[in-house]
Parts: sequence; C-alpha cells; structure tokens
Amino acid sequence: MTKIKNYIDGESKEPSSDEWLDNYNPSTGEVYSKIAKSTQEDVENAYQAAKEAFPSWSNTTLEKRSKMLLRIADLIEANLDKLAEAEAKDNGKPFSLARAVDIPRASANFRFFGNAITQFASEAHESVGLNTMNFTMRSPIGVVGCISPWNLPLYLFTWKVAPAIAAGNCVVAKPSEVTPMTAYLLGEILTEAGLPKGVLNIVHGTGPETGQAIVAHQHIKAISFTGGTTTGEHIARTAAPMFKKLSLELGGKNPNLIFADCNYEKMLATTVKSSFANQGQICLCGSRIYVEEAIASRFKKDFVEKVSKLKIGNPFDEDTNLGALVSKEHLEKVENYIEIAKNEGGTVLFGGKRVSVKNFENGYYLQPTVIEVEDNNCRIQQEEVFGPVVTIMTFRDEAEALQLANNVKYGLSATVWTNNLNRTMLLSKQLEAGIVWVNTWLNRDLRTPFGGMKDSGVGREGGFEALRFFTEPKNVCITYEG
Ligand code: NAD
Repeated sequence: MTKIKNYIDGESKEPSSDEWLDNYNPSTGEVYSKIAKSTQEDVENAYQAAKEAFPSWSNTTLEKRSKMLLRIADLIEANLDKLAEAEAKDNGKPFSLARAVDIPRASANFRFFGNAITQFASEAHESVGLNTMNFTMRSPIGVVGCISPWNLPLYLFTWKVAPAIAAGNCVVAKPSEVTPMTAYLLGEILTEAGLPKGVLNIVHGTGPETGQAIVAHQHIKAISFTGGTTTGEHIARTAAPMFKKLSLELGGKNPNLIFADCNYEKMLATTVKSSFANQGQICLCGSRIYVEEAIASRFKKDFVEKVSKLKIGNPFDEDTNLGALVSKEHLEKVENYIEIAKNEGGTVLFGGKRVSVKNFENGYYLQPTVIEVEDNNCRIQQEEVFGPVVTIMTFRDEAEALQLANNVKYGLSATVWTNNLNRTMLLSKQLEAGIVWVNTWLNRDLRTPFGGMKDSGVGREGGFEALRFFTEPKNVCITYEG
C-alpha cells in the first residue's frame, strides 16, 4: 500500500509522529493508501527548509525561475495518464474529466505563471516638473503557506504554489487529507525537474492539526487558502493577531438565471454541466437555477429528461458522467440536505437516491438530484451543499431574478442566459458575485481575476492578482536636483 509521505527539503520524509491516516478510494469504499499525519514538528521542519532556500531562490533570475516552472509544466503533461488515474482514484471523479481538465489545468498553472512572472513589471510614476520619481518595488514575501481542498486536488494546489514560487517565495503547502495523492506525486516531479531543495515543501495531514500549524506559524507571513467558509473564518481569526496577508477562496451558492430569450439548446446542455460536473463538487457550480416563468415548464421537463440520461458509475468507464462523491461523510451530508429540502416543502423532480454500481457496491454514488422549491429563504437555497443537487425556482421578471440571486450570504459566481444586451450589462453590474458568466459557464482565462464577494472570500487569484498577492510592494520616492 502506498505511503503518502511528506516532501520536505526535496526529500520524501516520514511524519515525525509515525502516525498515518487512511486514504479511501471513494468509488470502491476501500482504503488504498496511508497518509502522513503530520504534526507541528513536521511543519516546522518544512518551514526551516523553506527559510533556508529563500535567499537563493528569491535571487534566482526571472528567466531561470520561469524555465523551472515551464519544466514542471512539461513533466506534469508527460505524466498526464498517471496523474489523472491517481486523481480519479483519490477523488472519485471520472478519469476522463481528470484527464481532460484537472491535470491539463495543473500543467497550465505552472506554464501560465512561468510566463507571467517575466511580464510582471515594476510600476514607475514620474512627477513631471518636480524632479521626483516614484517607483514600486515588488519583492517576494518570504515563506508562505498554501492550503487547498479536495474537489479539484492538483488543479487548485498548483493554482497556489505556482504563482507563489514564480514570485520568488518558498512554500509550505498542504493538500486536502482526503485527496493527497497527486500532490504527493508532484513531489517526484519537482525532484525530476530539479527544483532547488526547500523551495516547495508539501506536508500532509488534517486541517485542525497540520493546516492549523501552518496558519499559526509565527514566520509564515502569508496564507493562500481555498476551502469552506467556516474554515476560512477560523483561519482569518488565527492569522489576524499576526497581521498575516490572507487570500481566502471560500464557498459558493451560485445562481444560474435563465431568461426566455436565451439560446435554449446551448443553455440546456450547459446547465446540465454547471449543475453536475464533478458530481456538483465545484465551488462554481450553478446550484440555484432560476428560470423565467414563460419557459419554466418546458425547461423543467427537458432538464429532467437530460439529467435522467446521465450515467453514474465507475470513474474509469469512458462514458461515465458522474463518478463517486468524495467520501462517505460527504455523501451523508448531501443526503441530509435532500431530506432537509423535502421537509422544507421542496419537490424532488429527479434523483435523491444512492446508486449501486455493479462491482463497486461500496462506493459513494448518488443520483443527480433536481429539487423544485418555492421559498428562497429555506436552507437548501441558502446553504452550500457541494454535491449533485440543484434547485429550481421560477421568476417573473428581471428585477425579481436579481433579488432572488443576490439574496444569499455568498457571492462567488453567477451565470446569466439571455440575448438581451441591456439586461446583460445591468445584471453584470448588479449581481453580487466575483465572476459573472453570460451565455457560458466555467470559461476561464487565467489572466483574469478570480474570487468571491461577501462570504465567498477575500482577495483575488489569477493573472497578476496572484503575483501581487505573493509579493510585498514597496514605494521608493527619489528626488533629484536639476
Ligand atoms: P475545508 O475547508 O474543509 O478544507 C480545505 C483545506 O483546509 C483542507 O486542506 C483542510 O485540511 C484544511 N483545513 C481544515 N481546517 C483547517 C484549519 N483549522 N486550519 C487550516 N487548514 C484547515 O474544505 P473542503 O471540504 O476541503 O472543500 C470544500 C469547500 O471548498 C467548499 O466550501 C467549496 O466551495 C470550497 N471551494 C472554494 C473554491 C473557491 O475558489 N472559492 C474552490 C474549490 C472549493
């Protein structure tokens, strides 16, 4: 059985506790590897390695750093099948999805930031006539912490560590204890690429122990975190007395607004994806559908028909649309929300039940579930389920659609389906979300800012935003005689 060890100072290291956690394959329900249960001592060792590597790495030329990131990107690509297989086994997601999206994106993250760092220029402001020049130096912060969740394991882990090291920092990073495998394999890739020892250290373990030790570490000056809103709040409290720089990418409860004037077929096909891709376990999934009354009954019928054709099963079958949910606990949590919705008066239009997959009877499979609701204030409309559950409500007009969409504590993303330009502009301005998609979903250009408003987070990732986060700006003001 594979032992998922830490990657500290360029070497594979056992946890100092010699304690190991079970790692389950959600599609079979079986333990298939053991994970290092790291303690504060391991985090300290990772910190020391990062601290030692920092003077040299931060003084490495941009060209050399860039080249290193591009080499890592190439090696991820070269290991596409191996990494996609590990991701599917660890997370339960379809292998085809991991192969087409997760792993290519992990490679793209290194490639993008490997290139972006060479374009990340200092700003200068000349005060003409005053013989004064201001310029802004941007220096790496030092040792930074990166903590990522289980839904897009390597994709989100690399989305943080790539800009962090591109900007010249050294890193102590922790992937989710539920899906540690691809981050573990990344350690082998880093060694093969020749990344100097200590630049990127990967410690495995639980959130309350290992994650907490990273956040609470006196000298880890910035934390980039993606995960749940409650965890984000806890991290913010721990970090506040030390005035750490924080980037928090948290939960979502994203509205999908469907107007009668939209391109119906495109909307229908995309709405199936935005509801159930990755078993609905994407922070950007459009978990609240709002459809204009004029087309509501047609939409409900067509949507349910399409959803009923989705194939749930072995993640390694090519035609599988939905694999297993990530864990037994998570499956139970999602089922509990379906019960809550029913008790609140919701009507299940489709799904709601576990699925027994032949030869995988102990896996955590759940039908894609469509629930019609009438009260926007009920828990199923207000709380993040993070599973294959979508709700449908109707609206009369644009004003009502906007009010329903904004009436949650979250503000991550929103999708709008319309061909009305005026409506597109007004809703784009008024929707309380960090990302608004119009007639598309999950369309990402890595140069654009990514992140949420309200309880969906603080700060933005992506493009130069990420490089700004991972650097400390310093203004230098020079006057001269003349
Ligand atoms: P989680 O908050 O339970 O865990 C995320 C990470 O934080 C894990 O590595 C975990 O071990 C660690 N952690 C837990 N407690 C900690 C603590 N006290 N101190 C430090 N680290 C701690 O989230 P999850 O269940 O892994 O992921 C699902 C959540 O992530 C959902 O809410 C989803 O919306 C959110 N998410 C957000 C985005 C985004 O970009 N906004 C993207 C993906 C997922």
